[in-house]
Amino acid sequence: MTQLPDLEQLLTDPVVAALARAEETAWFGAGPVDTIEGIKASGIDPELIAAARERFNRFAPWFAERFADTRATHGILESPLVGIPDLQEELGRRFGTVLPGKLWLKRDDSLPVSGSIKARGGIHEVLEVAERLATEAGIMGPGDDARVLMTPAAQEVLSAHGIAVGSTGNLGLSIGIVASELGFNTTVHMSLDARAWKKDLLRSRGVTVVEHAGNFSDAVEAGRKTADEDPSVWFVDDEASLSLFAGYSVAGSRLAGQLKALDITVDAQHPLIVHLPCGVGGGPGGVTFGLKEAFGDAVHCVFSEPTHSPCMSLGVRTGLHDAISVQDIGLDGKTAADGLAVGRPSRLVGEHLQQLIDGFVTVTDERMKAFQGLVHDTEGIDIEPSAAAGFAGPWRILENQDYLTAYGLTPEAMANATHIVWATGGSMVPKEEMAAYVAEGQSLIDQVLWS
Ligand SMILES: *Cc1c(COP(=O)(O)O)cnc(C)c1O
Repeated sequence: MTQLPDLEQLLTDPVVAALARAEETAWFGAGPVDTIEGIKASGIDPELIAAARERFNRFAPWFAERFADTRATHGILESPLVGIPDLQEELGRRFGTVLPGKLWLKRDDSLPVSGSIKARGGIHEVLEVAERLATEAGIMGPGDDARVLMTPAAQEVLSAHGIAVGSTGNLGLSIGIVASELGFNTTVHMSLDARAWKKDLLRSRGVTVVEHAGNFSDAVEAGRKTADEDPSVWFVDDEASLSLFAGYSVAGSRLAGQLKALDITVDAQHPLIVHLPCGVGGGPGGVTFGLKEAFGDAVHCVFSEPTHSPCMSLGVRTGLHDAISVQDIGLDGKTAADGLAVGRPSRLVGEHLQQLIDGFVTVTDERMKAFQGLVHDTEGIDIEPSAAAGFAGPWRILENQDYLTAYGLTPEAMANATHIVWATGGSMVPKEEMAAYVAEGQSLIDQVLWS
């Protein structure tokens, strides 16, 4: 790792200084980067999107058989896109600015199997490992559907292998549920801030849960180390995995299909603006890659992070990426937002994808919780607080005339805009915990959401 950066020098940048004070921030690209160039510059082959989509298709019959909540889609893991006009109106009233265009919620909170965006990436990597092992053992051929993995011969192979992952919770949940169902020996290393119900649920499915006193990076490190010592164990590396990234990226073409079915046009005069909660960056990074591949320059992707752990904002803004952590600028990295308490960003996403990310927004825990309460009150939808991180973004864009001008977001184009807030988790949260989130969120609405 490189030497610690010169803090005084970094703090001369007003954005970094504001991040260090844990203030809400919003900054955007100086001008559009040609999407084709940006994808080239990423060094990531867009072919991986189609390969991941086909893998999910091969596994669809297996999911339909093993997970009842995937039967309604014949084993495809996808979430609805829903309009949220009442919330759009209420936020417009509270912020004193009507949001032109239409506001939608992408309901990854209700993705089958594990109830969060991690059902895209985490699950994909487990499927890839299972397929590879079965293929190497001569049990699975290129045209086979994945139900062949349920045969005794395949089970003998998979149960002789381990899957390990370090996680603040939702990734461990996704990987643990699917890996144990496939028959792998599964170990999830969890940081201290992981919720008890997630650990209980995993243990009930036969997953070994190891608790670590440190933070997210410590749990990841511990997982990596145990897997290094045992070649039969595959370690899922949330900080750098291309397979996770590929799984998330499938969301792009799927969303294109959903918008088409709704007769929604996306082009320069009908921009698509997507707000993605960001932890280590793999989820929003992969989704952004898929969206840019699907929509080109017409889609704008904005990452949202908690003010106490803005690792991606900090890494990209300083150009130091994973060589700087939020602790280096004096932040504690603590947030109530499950999945977003990450101090150091993904190497893969920060460095390779930075040209494709259009903006970076940070939001306080209080406002995230209040947004969550307001989603409940106006739309009757319950998501986890981290999943509400994206709601600040649409109005931050409206305030930024430089961005609007530089990216051709004229008033006419904005009137046709499709704004999507990506709700990243929630349906697995136990009822009582969700009720507590809602109550706390509601109590904060009038304090922190005003014009
Ligand atoms: C993991 C997670 C995210 C962000 O994904 P990263 O890959 O960590 O950036 C957002 N919301 C929720 C609920 C998550 O669990």
